[in-house]
Amino acid sequence: MKKTAKRLTAALLFLSLLAQGMTAFAETRVIFNDSFQGEVGPGVGPGVGPGVTEQSLKEAASQERSAVLEEAQIASAGENIVFSGGRYIDLTKPMIALTYDDGPQVKAGNAIMDVFAKYNQRATFFLVGDRIPSRKEEVQRMVAENHEVANHSYSHKYLNRESVETIRSQVAKCNEMIVQYAGVTPTIMRLPGGSKNDTVLANVNMPIILWNVDTRDWEHRNAQKTIDAVLGKVKDGDIVLMHELYESTAQATASIVPALVEQGFQLVTVSELAQLKGKTLTPGTVYYSMR
Ligand SMILES: [Zn+2]
Repeated sequence: MKKTAKRLTAALLFLSLLAQGMTAFAETRVIFNDSFQGEVGPGVGPGVGPGVTEQSLKEAASQERSAVLEEAQIASAGENIVFSGGRYIDLTKPMIALTYDDGPQVKAGNAIMDVFAKYNQRATFFLVGDRIPSRKEEVQRMVAENHEVANHSYSHKYLNRESVETIRSQVAKCNEMIVQYAGVTPTIMRLPGGSKNDTVLANVNMPIILWNVDTRDWEHRNAQKTIDAVLGKVKDGDIVLMHELYESTAQATASIVPALVEQGFQLVTVSELAQLKGKTLTPGTVYYSMR
């Protein structure tokens, strides 16, 4: 009887510690979406009091508490740390945007996302609108895992050859597909083939993101050549062009992401890169990098 009561007390104490710890944990998670101002509170959990008699309960509580402490330490590490897209970014360390065009493409796309998930990094996917309905689960995974989904026209038309009406509808219909199937509104656009003229720039009405590091993965379809185009070449603020369509690009990604992380780079979305570098993107303007 006594033993049961003791166990019950211990269990209740543990639950209470857990609840307090989780509250503190939640308090450290301040989300910076549109601005990176504000202070991140430490919110450290309570001390472990007497009465916890069972070793396993003690250990569990202490693990929970050290997780809270770790979060608090990161959050209060300094004003150069921001929370964005589900993880912390250090503004003093280099950042790169890896971008993948022409998807969604189920096999390579999921393989690419598996790599980003393993290293807790983010990518940008420039999607072709008419490819979305049959592959909506993949696009929803992109959104769920905090990647950026962006506009790459409705049917991959080279817009410099099209009329004003077609340019506008190609952009609008791609955005509609992304809103309808993924529930988010894209804020940036990439022109198929990078093909532009004055009519295109005047009618896209979204910031136009091109690239300053071209892997030419679509041409050689060779993982090592894609890797060689990135590693040792990229610098803080760069935007790298790849394509979601190829197995070789997925294979290259499996090497590129850990290598860049090892070198201290943070892989961010294009919109994050712009925001974190303090750049305001303007519709109809072309951006090649955020250096
Ligand atoms: Zn394309």
